[in-house]
Amino acid sequence: MAARSARRSSRRRAAASAPGRSADRPLRIRSFRELDEVASKARCGCGGSLHLLGEGSRSTPTGSVRVLRCECEHCEEEVDLFFDLVEVRH
Ligand SMILES: [Zn+2]
Repeated sequence: MAARSARRSSRRRAAASAPGRSADRPLRIRSFRELDEVASKARCGCGGSLHLLGEGSRSTPTGSVRVLRCECEHCEEEVDLFFDLVEVRH
């Protein structure tokens, strides 16, 4: 049981270091279409595909980031995807 949870947390750390997986490191996108493409290709650390639970925004010291809250269809892990919209044309 202990070994299993250790594996789980190391996998989560690896996923959290990828761009777009933490509020400190949002993925910079240029269009909402790009956001949709990235979100549809994003995978959980277990390899499962994600489905969207909700969207929101979060303030950071460098501005606000778009947050997509997703859940893995396989292991039900919640995965947040963070996007920097500074280059999106309005
Ligand atoms: Zn998963």
